[in-house]
Amino acid sequence: MLPTNPGGHAAYQDTFVSQFLKFYPDPFVLPKSTWDYIVQFWYLDLSQTDSIMQECYSVFGPEPRLPSCMLRSYLLALKLKVTSITVWCRMLKETPLYAILSGFSFGDTPGVGTFYDFFSRIWQDDKDSLSPKDRFPKMKPPKGKKKGGKTPCDSSSIASKLLPLLEHWQLKPQNPFFLIFRLYQQQFLDQSIHRGLVNPRHLALAGDGTPVRTAAQQRKKRICHCKEKGCSSCNCKRHYSQPDCNWGWDSHRECYFFGYHLYMYVASGSFSGLPVFPLLERASRHDMLSFLHSFFTMKAYLPEFRIEKLLLDSAHDAYAVYEYCRRENIVPFIDLNPDIPDISLIRMISLLMMMVSPSVKWAYVCIKMDMKLPSTAQNTGARNQTGSVAVSVNTLFTGEIWKNRTHLYR
Ligand SMILES: [Zn+2]
Repeated sequence: MLPTNPGGHAAYQDTFVSQFLKFYPDPFVLPKSTWDYIVQFWYLDLSQTDSIMQECYSVFGPEPRLPSCMLRSYLLALKLKVTSITVWCRMLKETPLYAILSGFSFGDTPGVGTFYDFFSRIWQDDKDSLSPKDRFPKMKPPKGKKKGGKTPCDSSSIASKLLPLLEHWQLKPQNPFFLIFRLYQQQFLDQSIHRGLVNPRHLALAGDGTPVRTAAQQRKKRICHCKEKGCSSCNCKRHYSQPDCNWGWDSHRECYFFGYHLYMYVASGSFSGLPVFPLLERASRHDMLSFLHSFFTMKAYLPEFRIEKLLLDSAHDAYAVYEYCRRENIVPFIDLNPDIPDISLIRMISLLMMMVSPSVKWAYVCIKMDMKLPSTAQNTGARNQTGSVAVSVNTLFTGEIWKNRTHLYR
């Protein structure tokens, strides 16, 4: 049978209230932290999940659990930092609050198999990974030389080669995770837009990657017979249980980790930086590569969004990115990468600017974008001191001064 939820979110709220008072006649004994997530899930309207996911179910067979309840229950598990489905199913059986807050009756909660069945319906592919499970073993990426250093990467040349390719390639919004994105877009992102918290016509996006550790060790096993023949270290294909994950360097904690890089775009102009587009990238991937891939994937999924400003860290400091931003009328705010050698001239200028101007970052951007600094009192000093050097920088890089965008810097 297809899942049907005629009562929508109101039906969930009504059932929850009646059940809640039955199990907790004195609700005020619950601590404040518990009330915090009760309130969050009480307002979390996931009723569209049932209509979106109808096509994932068959008209035959027994009535399934409501997809909205399954999703709500899984989100509640993540909220409580429970990542094991087995543990979560036991908690649903033991604690009435978790069962009724998910939308189930206490004593009639789903088992482990029901959750995995739900996950396989949400993932729109027969295979459970993007990469093939049998592949050749790879060497570990070399560690950054300096303290806190990332994997050495010539991000400038990567960007200049890859950006034009991706720009003309037109990535298609068809992935095994397109249904997950649809659930997120309709019930979270569109809600933010509807409430005026995110403005898709004037977006200021901030993007960065963060490590997501999935396991302590990479699980792989031999599928060849070299070891029996006496060769213990061969380079034949191995069977990987998580082929989309690999080893990356966490420069903040200064350690290797196994898993993904979550590359996330947030609306920096919104209250508390609401999420716009998340994408899991390979852990070994440099931020520049993740940025390019996730940026153009985002453009494919959200073509109507108009990006006006882009805030990125020094890993994204490459001329190709500035050139792209100029073509697309995006104002970039990118930290300078101190490791790029040809930037020494700008560093010299920036030292001068730090002495005379508090708006050092703006001056950075102006010089990197070959723009004129706006004529404000605080910039006059900077211009006087750096004028001659800045002019030579302009001619050195493109020989052209971009005048018409200075109004954005006031
Ligand atoms: Zn072998």
